Amino acid sequence: MRIFDPHIHMTSRTTDDYERMAAAGVRAIVEPAFWLGQPRTGPASFTDYFDALIGWEPFRASQFGIRHHATIALNPKEANDPRCRPVLDLLPRYLAKDGVVAVGEIGYDSMTAAEDEVFAAQLALAIEHELPALVHTPHRDKARGTERSIAVVTESGIDPSRVVLDHLNELTVAAALDAGLWAGFSIYPDTKMSPSRMVTILHEYGLERVLINSAADWGRSDPLLTVRTAEEMLAGGFTKDDVDKVLWRNPVAFFNQSGRLDLAGRNASEATFAGNSILRGGS
Ligand SMILES: [Zn+2]
Repeated sequence: MRIFDPHIHMTSRTTDDYERMAAAGVRAIVEPAFWLGQPRTGPASFTDYFDALIGWEPFRASQFGIRHHATIALNPKEANDPRCRPVLDLLPRYLAKDGVVAVGEIGYDSMTAAEDEVFAAQLALAIEHELPALVHTPHRDKARGTERSIAVVTESGIDPSRVVLDHLNELTVAAALDAGLWAGFSIYPDTKMSPSRMVTILHEYGLERVLINSAADWGRSDPLLTVRTAEEMLAGGFTKDDVDKVLWRNPVAFFNQSGRLDLAGRNASEATFAGNSILRGGS
């Protein structure tokens, strides 16, 4: 079984997680830029974070044979802080980098006017840089947030097949697929989507344009829930080829639209941190 987790925040995870993921078949990941929990007070914190997403984290993943890619954006939550708005001016520099395969996570948190502006500005950047976009749907008021996100995506003029609407559930999947977007699902340990609910959705809506991720981060989450969902698919009557499609070929197809997916490690960052070693430790 080969697994591509298209949404996981390894910055918040330990080396043990990388080890367990590699042992379970996770071979490639995409790490979207997001809110780190502690609010940032200015653009310099973002610069260091973005540099880590395209430098240090790919190196850390490579120690376990995992190919790491990033998506870069000003996240919806911090879009509301005027001190963070200048991050928008930093983005073009990062969107030109090899390891960046989409603009994200963008979208809504509380659906404010500031979020409207930043969401639209970043969809325009995706079009300009010919990159796909990863759109987060809000956890509160999800149905309305999803509807409004689809309207903003449509209005932007971006090709809907280059957009994934993430954190969907039974109530929001149909609208995303009907609009021609990719449907992303985050599998969580206790709240929201579970492996068995996911398998029910796959039976109902099919395997086309579906991405499944663990969204593991600093909250209660599990980086192996992609693998658990694959097992649940097999138990639920899907074939090994179906599992390979949803958990490998689909994310490859979606992020290949960036022209930058590097699954062979041609641009491997091993050399970037040649003087460092995970085994030796960094502290
Ligand atoms: Zn996320």
